[in-house]
Formats: sequence, structure tokens, C-alpha cells
Amino acid sequence: MRFSKALPNFLLGYISLHLVIAAIFLFVLTGWLRDQLLDQTRLRMQDVSYGLREHVKALPAGMNDPELLKHVQNLESRVQARFTIVDSEGQVLVDSRTGYKDIGNHGSRPEIIEARQKGIGFQQRTSETLNLPLLYLAIPLYEPGESIPNQQNGFVRVAFEEQAVFETIRSLQKFLWIFTIGSGVLAAALMSLFAFREMQPLPKFAEAARNVAAGKYVMLPGLTRREDEWKSLADAFAVMQAELRQRETRLRENSQRIEAVLGSMVEGVLAVDNQQRVLVANQAACEMLDVEPADLTHNLLQEVVRIPELGHAIQHTLLTHSERQTEFETLSNPRRILEIRVAPMPEQREFGAAVVMHDVTDLRALENMRRDFVANVSHELKTPLASIKAYAETLRLGAIHDQENNLDFVEQIEDQAVVLDRQIADLLLLSELESGKSTFEWTEVDLADIFQKCRKRFLVEAERRDLEIAIGVPERGCIFETDRVALRSILDNLVSNAIRYAQPSSEVKISAVDYPERVQIMVTDHGVGISDENQERIFERFYRVDKARSRDLGGTGLGLAIVKHTVNALGGTIAVESKLGQGTTFSVRLPRNSNAVKD
Ligand code: ADP
Repeated sequence: MRFSKALPNFLLGYISLHLVIAAIFLFVLTGWLRDQLLDQTRLRMQDVSYGLREHVKALPAGMNDPELLKHVQNLESRVQARFTIVDSEGQVLVDSRTGYKDIGNHGSRPEIIEARQKGIGFQQRTSETLNLPLLYLAIPLYEPGESIPNQQNGFVRVAFEEQAVFETIRSLQKFLWIFTIGSGVLAAALMSLFAFREMQPLPKFAEAARNVAAGKYVMLPGLTRREDEWKSLADAFAVMQAELRQRETRLRENSQRIEAVLGSMVEGVLAVDNQQRVLVANQAACEMLDVEPADLTHNLLQEVVRIPELGHAIQHTLLTHSERQTEFETLSNPRRILEIRVAPMPEQREFGAAVVMHDVTDLRALENMRRDFVANVSHELKTPLASIKAYAETLRLGAIHDQENNLDFVEQIEDQAVVLDRQIADLLLLSELESGKSTFEWTEVDLADIFQKCRKRFLVEAERRDLEIAIGVPERGCIFETDRVALRSILDNLVSNAIRYAQPSSEVKISAVDYPERVQIMVTDHGVGISDENQERIFERFYRVDKARSRDLGGTGLGLAIVKHTVNALGGTIAVESKLGQGTTFSVRLPRNSNAVKD
């Protein structure tokens, strides 16, 4: 509201009120004045009529005096009144205005009738003769009991023009109206001036209030120096602003704290109202449900997230006001398993729901892995044990005396025991690596030397399959720090796999590239290759692409799992590149020293 807009309305109201009050006052005043004037006029008319009566009586021929007209006209010129003499029958003998003209019988005029009855008649009416509003007063020429000469009574009537009588009132009214309007306008002008001066701070308050609403706090210094109510208002305004600012700060801090807490939570937190409109959603919840925070907040959950289990669980809580716990898979890629707990949440007068979500994908995968692992271990160990049991039984049932074959059976038992031993040794190694308890001895190794020794170890096996083992090391040599035994285990596993899965008469290559920060070792074969989907899984424990072939070739299914864990424990990474039917390259990247691991 601008003050300049309110002022005209205010003034209009004031002037209207002023005029209404003035009108009422004038109406009452003029009414009273009229009555007063009427009373005075009546008395005056009475006096004049008595005077006229005496004068008429004093005329030598009384009412019939030929000089009567002159007298009444003379009187009218002095008193400004109309005089009429009427005989007892009502005949007009003379009239100061019309003279002796016959103006009809006046016996039935109300003032004459009244005078006849009461001795005096007063009327205020329009003259039929002159067609003017007049005041009439009539008295009998002779009062009752008075001796009447010629027995002929009559009436003396005096008439004053109403307009002349009330002229004063009209002038007064005119003057009073002019005064009222003038004083009203003057008062309004002065009031505007005063109001404009006094109300000047009002727009400042309006502006300040607008600023406060927009979150801007302003001071009103000009007003606090005043000594009036505006100062009190400005002071109160300042206190209110300080209080508001404090509350806003507290609220902001609180909400920032809550946001920080929610943002740092691993659990997804979601709050919805009774319509399932999202009130709060932390970052973790958005990530778990694979939606953008802006899409989720303030929107209906079922419109943004299409997971029926989530919607049903919330709906159940909203209807029953009880907690609900459930687990479901998201539709995102990759799919996640979410465990949710929905609790009722008082939300104004209704009930909303608070949802806490845990991403249990890894947990469930781990549980599955553990279950699979136990099943796999049992299965893997069962095979050689069954063979051992079968051979032992055969021997017990008589084959022990079969001089030709009994040694074969014992050898088979020994072989299976070796397999069992290898499997158990691999399992123990794996478990040690997984527990993170394995300790390494970091020493300088010469890769050329390590490669040569590895080649020697696999020479016989390679020749058996007519394979070449080639070595490729940088010419200037490659010396770096690592655990010699671990490196040997990595190489042995990779080279033995390469020999196992290579095409006969092909080449297996062990090579290295020396980078400033790391050393990359590659074992390449031209063999069966590994399909893309299997490449993702070959590092899992007991995972084999071709189970029977692996077992026939003496594999435990743990080799690559051990390699991966060992490489990781040394602070390195392993990758595989392979094409089905063409061959495979395993690349191991190892840090140049133990610093990377310690950090
Ligand atoms: P295994 O004892 O069976 O060799 P690993 O863990 O060493 O177990 O290997 C897992 C699986 O990966 C193997 O069963 C095999 O199918 C596949 N694999 C490993 N190395 C190669 C390779 N060089 N060429 C083709 N397949 C391989």
C-alpha cells in the first residue's frame, strides 16, 4: 500500500462525514430557527393587527370609511404586510393589495374561521388570490362583550410573505453551507498536510516488511531517532527482525545439519506424506532408486519410482500405521537388492511414512558366494576322496594280491591324495590372502631372471604339448621391488594355464613392459580363448569354463582366484583380454615398490 493511495480515500471519507454532520446540524438548526422566527412573526403580526384594528375603529365611518384603502396601503408601505378587512359575512371590504376589487368571500378562509371561533386565527398557506405562500393572522374587529356600532363586526387580517420572513434563514443556510464546505476543505487540506507529514514513515515500513518477507533484514535508522509512536513501532520492528533473523538462522542451521546427516548416511532415507508425495529424500535414496533428487522431491513417489514392492509397503504402513519390512530388487541396471523398513511418521494431522533403505546387494552376493563356496569345496574334495575310497576298497577286496595291478591302484590313491593336497593347499593360501594376514618380503627382483626360471620349470610340460615358451623383457632389463615368492606363484599359475589351454605346437609368451610407476607382465597364449561373459567370472573361486577339461588337466579352479588376490595384495591389478578360439593375454600390473601398498 502506498500512502498516496490511501490518503484520497481517507479524505473522501472525512469530507463525506463532515458534510453529513453539517447537513444534520443545519437541518436541526434551521428547524429551530424557523420555529423561533414563526413565533416572533406571529407576535409581530398580532401587534400589527391590534394596531390596525384600533386604527380602523378610530376611523369616523369605521370599516366603511372611504379612506380605509388609503390607510391600509399606507400601512403596508410601512410594515411590508398585506392587510385585509373582512365583514362578519366574510365579504372583503378592502385589501391593501387588490383594493376594493371583489376577490371573493373570505368567510371560509381557515384563519377567519379560527378567528371567529377562538378570537385569533393564524395560518401558513398559499394565497388563493395572490398565489403566494403567506402567513396569515386574523382577529375580530370587536372582541366579544365590546359594543359594536351598527351591530356590524368584521375581521382584520394581516398577511406576511413567507419568503420575506424566512429570508434570514435562507441567507443563514447559505452562509452556513459555504462556511461548512470551506472549513471542510480547509480542514481536509490541513489534515492531508499533517497526515502526509506524520504518515511518511508508513511506506518505509511497508518496504521494510516486503524486504523481510524476501529474507532481507533492513534497519530503519531515521525512525529510531524520532520521539513518537513511530519510534516505538520502529523499535518493535527492529526487535521482530532480530528475532526473525535468529529463528531463521537456527532453522537454516538445523536443516543444514539434518541435510548433512542425511547426506552422509549410507542408508537411503525417504519420507512421504499420506498421498505418497516425497517430502525428504537423501542422496543415498536417490542413488539406490536410480532417480535424480529434483525428480523425487515434492513429487508422487509412484510416479517417479515404479517398484511395486516399495509402493505396497508404504501403502500398508499408511493404512495400518504399523511398521513394515521387506526386500526387493530394483529395476535399475545393474539391479540392486534393497532391504527397506517403513515406519509410520506423524505428519501434521495425517500420517506419513519414513522409509530407511539398505543396499544389501553385496551382502546377499557374499552370502550366496559363501553358500556356493561351501558347496563347491565339498564337491571338489569329494571327487578325489571318492576315488581314494574306491581304490582302497578295490585293494581291500582282493586287488592287493593282484601283483600286476596293485601298484597302479596305490599310485592312483597317491595321485588323488596329491590332488587333494593341492586343493587344500590352494584353499589355505586363498583363505590366508583373503584374510589379509599374508606378509610379503619386498626385495629387488630381476624380471629376466624370474622369467627364465619360470620357463625352465615348465619346459618339460611345454614340450609334452609341443609348445614354445618365449620370453620378452625390455633390453635394458627390468628390476623392481616385489615379493619373489608371490611373483613366482602368479607367473606359475598364469603360465600353467596358458600351457593347459594353448593350441598344441603354438607359442606361449611371457613378456613385460617397464613403466616409470609400474611394471606390466603379460602371459599370452594362442589357445581356446575365453568368452566375454566368462572373462568376468574366471577370477571367482572354483569357476571353470569347462569343468571336466579343467579337472582332467589337473586344475583346481582356484588358480586365478589366488592370482587375483595375490596381485591385489601386492598393490597391483590384473586384466584379461581374450578372443574365443584365438587366445588369451593376462596382464598383471605391479607397483615398482612397496610404497604404493603401504600408502
Ligand atoms: P583351473 O585350475 O581350472 O585352471 P583357474 O582359476 O586357473 O582354474 O582358471 C579358471 C578357468 O579359467 C579355467 O577353468 C579356464 O576355463 C579358464 N582359463 C584360465 N586361463 C585360461 C587360458 N589361458 N586360456 C583359456 N582359458 C583359461
